[in-house]
Amino acid sequence: MSSHDLFQRSLKVAPGGVHSPVRSFQSVGGNPIFFERSKGAYLWDVEGKRYIDFCQSFGPLLFGHRDPEIQEIVLDTIERTWTLGACEPYSLELAEFIIQHIPWVEKIRFVNSGTEAVMSALRVARAATGRAKVLKFEGCYHGHLDSLLVKAGSGLAGESASDSAGIPKELIQNTFVLSLDEEDELEEFFSEHGTEIAAIAIEPLPANYGLLPQRKSFLQKLRSLATKFGCVLIFDEVITGFRIGFTGMSGRLGISPDLVCYGKIIGGGFPVGAYAGKASLMDLVSPSGKVYQAGTLSANPIGMRAGLKTLQKAFLENPYSALSIQTETWSNELVKSLNETSEFTWKTQSLDSLFWLVRESGKEIRKISEIPSSLQDDFKTIFHPLLQKGVYLPPSPYEVGFLSTAHTKEILDETISLVKTLL
Ligand SMILES: *Cc1c(COP(=O)(O)O)cnc(C)c1O
Repeated sequence: MSSHDLFQRSLKVAPGGVHSPVRSFQSVGGNPIFFERSKGAYLWDVEGKRYIDFCQSFGPLLFGHRDPEIQEIVLDTIERTWTLGACEPYSLELAEFIIQHIPWVEKIRFVNSGTEAVMSALRVARAATGRAKVLKFEGCYHGHLDSLLVKAGSGLAGESASDSAGIPKELIQNTFVLSLDEEDELEEFFSEHGTEIAAIAIEPLPANYGLLPQRKSFLQKLRSLATKFGCVLIFDEVITGFRIGFTGMSGRLGISPDLVCYGKIIGGGFPVGAYAGKASLMDLVSPSGKVYQAGTLSANPIGMRAGLKTLQKAFLENPYSALSIQTETWSNELVKSLNETSEFTWKTQSLDSLFWLVRESGKEIRKISEIPSSLQDDFKTIFHPLLQKGVYLPPSPYEVGFLSTAHTKEILDETISLVKTLL
């Protein structure tokens, strides 16, 4: 069966033929590829064609697909159990490992996705402050929970519009949305609303609407405003946790959030999320406190052990600076080659193992109003030709690309050679 045939079948049984929207190729056009196997930096589709994978399941795979050491732990776990629904030592080991190495994490609760982690952290913040309102930033994604699936509306704080059908305005009237990288607007907002805000939620490195690196001073301002007004600062490190250095963006910036959300890498490729932070906040969660949050498959042994192995390897092998240099060098080479074939100039914005391709606009892009409006059309001109050559980028211009330690110099060089054949 070809990808095309499978997609036609899939359209009959799943909305849009997929189980998560970006997989549908909607923003690049054409039919999605159906993959059946993966290893290291490679994917193989159902017809046996090989691709070099720069999507890496959107982030969980710091060591590439099916790293042998992680695979061994997964197989060993399956021989023991795959779910217990009771206390077990595996989540304890992962919790202790994280608490030992991340200074601002005193207690942690495991859940099954990044969405759940952020949803629960918000509930804790509201319980802790007795306030209802939350502040988020335009262009940051925090999962598909109602109260944060919100975009800026008329420009007035509190007049936000939902980003999805099925979310009544009553559910988002407590959500404020501000622009990234606007310190004055932020100050002004807090002087008016500061004492009403339960939580400030932000991706400290926004990486879900392109890669939008923030000035350190902007994030420092959030920290000081949160402290001043008694709000809970939530860093959503679902992508950046254990990827932008072991201690994530918080560690890199030296800014401690009150609560941090993890996902992706923390489960080593299995469905795991976590929210964590100050004990005084985390102890509000049931059964020690009154914030209810539970999960039938939470702290699943396979995810816990795959996650622990991934984090142990990340800590011991410390691949971060090598990955960072490799990503920067390679993505610059990539755009250089693309620019030989393109009628306009591409550039890359990269940080550690994340990269984003965008049309050159002469300055670093930090907020969504600075993203060239042609991006979607621009990206279509490279996505399909590269796919044809066996190079798989995330199938959306707004998703960042990922390198893993499995992307060796040989593989990266091969990518550049493939791009050069586009000429
Ligand atoms: C992926 C992501 C989420 C959502 O995680 P899921 O596991 O897909 O629910 C939340 N926040 C950020 C920053 C993410 O990148």
